[in-house]
Amino acid sequence: MTLGPRVAFRGDPERGRDPPLPCLLRADIRPPRCEVVVTTKKKTKKAPTEPVAPRDPRAALAPTPEHFEASLKALKAVLADLPPPPAPVDGQPLPKLDLVDAVLHIYFADGVACGYAQEARRRIAEGFVDRNEFRVTEAFEVEDLLRDLPISRLFDRCLAVRDSVAQIYNDQNGVNLGFLRDAGIGDRNTFFQRVPALQSHVVHFLTTLLNLEEVVFSDKATVRAQQRLGWEGPAANKFVDEARALLKPYACLPLDVGPHLAGKKTNLKHALSPACLLARLAPAGKRRAKT
Ligand SMILES: [Zn+2]
Repeated sequence: MTLGPRVAFRGDPERGRDPPLPCLLRADIRPPRCEVVVTTKKKTKKAPTEPVAPRDPRAALAPTPEHFEASLKALKAVLADLPPPPAPVDGQPLPKLDLVDAVLHIYFADGVACGYAQEARRRIAEGFVDRNEFRVTEAFEVEDLLRDLPISRLFDRCLAVRDSVAQIYNDQNGVNLGFLRDAGIGDRNTFFQRVPALQSHVVHFLTTLLNLEEVVFSDKATVRAQQRLGWEGPAANKFVDEARALLKPYACLPLDVGPHLAGKKTNLKHALSPACLLARLAPAGKRRAKT
């Protein structure tokens, strides 16, 4: 029997409004009656202190033609609101994405819109002279800077950022991750083992971005990189061609969703940055352990 959406009959519609039957002495059986009710999802009981987790805007999307098309549309929309890429000076290539920014981005954006991480990075960039000053900062100082942003587990995230930056510095004698682009898979993995503060969802984001960069910006054939993403077939190839053309002037996968807003406001016009729109279409990583 097909009923309209969200509408169901309770009781036995055949019986209509029959008088109560003897079996109704059992209190758990309702009188047979025909009644239209609106069905609602069964509510699960939650402890009052535990907020209901909102849907993750970065949840993985299967690489289907529909998802490629929707992602391309979203990519065009967010790029239209981004400040134009700087013009190349004296033929010098534009700077690549700073992968430490990508680490900060995903630590603060995990589970929420990219705009919050954009605002967090803006405040960190304005609040500290450079990465070295940021490196020796206590987590609670960073938390103070971001306290009004509705980011869950904020202190834990600040602590994870602080520990990650400290371990990267100790390993590399500097706070940068650009060397990962030239490192083979094995070298990347041994680095991630030496820097255990980088949480698994952050490592997954970084390796996905490196793979995406190869697909979007490489001059060489991208078949293998596309295979690693599971992006195969005409719809995938069309998406790659269009994304390459759109992102070429930026020479990187932008992490912002538009201009910074005045008054420390968060730019929420688009849920996801270009980098995260593309990363969503990559295979999902293991979920992070809840901290
Ligand atoms: Zn993002």
